Amino acid sequence: MTDQPKTAIVTGGASGIGAAVVRALLDAGHTVAALDLSADALEAAWSDEPGVIRLAADVTDRAAVTAAVDEAVARFGVPGVLVNCAGIYRASNLLDTTDADFDAVVNVNLKGTFLPSQIVARAMVAAGVPGSIVNITSVAASEATEENGAYAASKGGVTALTRALAVSFAEHGIRVNGVQPGPIATPQGLAAVADPVYAERMVGRMLLKRLADPAEIAAAVVFLAGDGAGFITGSILTADGGVLAHR
Ligand code: NAP
Repeated sequence: MTDQPKTAIVTGGASGIGAAVVRALLDAGHTVAALDLSADALEAAWSDEPGVIRLAADVTDRAAVTAAVDEAVARFGVPGVLVNCAGIYRASNLLDTTDADFDAVVNVNLKGTFLPSQIVARAMVAAGVPGSIVNITSVAASEATEENGAYAASKGGVTALTRALAVSFAEHGIRVNGVQPGPIATPQGLAAVADPVYAERMVGRMLLKRLADPAEIAAAVVFLAGDGAGFITGSILTADGGVLAHR
């Protein structure tokens, strides 16, 4: 089998963890395409970085993701790495959560991980190249608060999906792993800690007593994406400052 190409697609690549992953993969020598919902956000994040290909697409829209992946393949060949970072958080107790909010959170976080994974994996398989997929799940997959029910359910799905994708894709030399962060200093993370229940439950008992820098999560992603993690598949790496270790 050929080597894994040093080309990558990062969903949610205009902001937060996704943008940090784009930067870290560039630093590791990859050619990178940042995929995100808003062309304007991509432009604002990456117009000064000519090496970054900007792909505006909604991760819940099969036709849009297919067109974006086709464009990336035309520009740099089959991606060796896919990182699924696009995600949304909506705070509400499940007694009050609306259908619209539940559907949006599950659709973006869970289906929005499945679709790019299937579409990119099909391209890898067709080209006969090995690859690596890294999904961003959350400590919310392992425990819930009163306010994060839909999000926790969606991330539990991402964790299970990660294992299932690893099983489905293994025979083609495609590894699939996840990173399970705790609170990160990104727009989404700062919005989440504005919820006092979440802040007390999470940040209050973090062993490291601080939000993570997105670059610290990106470093874990780059490790799992690369050859150094060549024997790791179907795994979830917790990078949470010690939240889950501490009651
Ligand atoms: P972020 O800064 O809000 O970035 C997420 C990006 O995804 C945004 O650019 C967003 O665009 C984009 N996006 C949203 N819906 C999309 C869609 N349908 N199609 C394409 N792109 C879409 O969030 P983040 O904090 O970096 O989070 C990244 C991932 O880490 C998410 O999966 C999140 O659940 C997970 N995570 C975050 C934390 C944390 O504390 N921040 C902790 C654990 C896990 P818009 O801004 O236009 O919506």
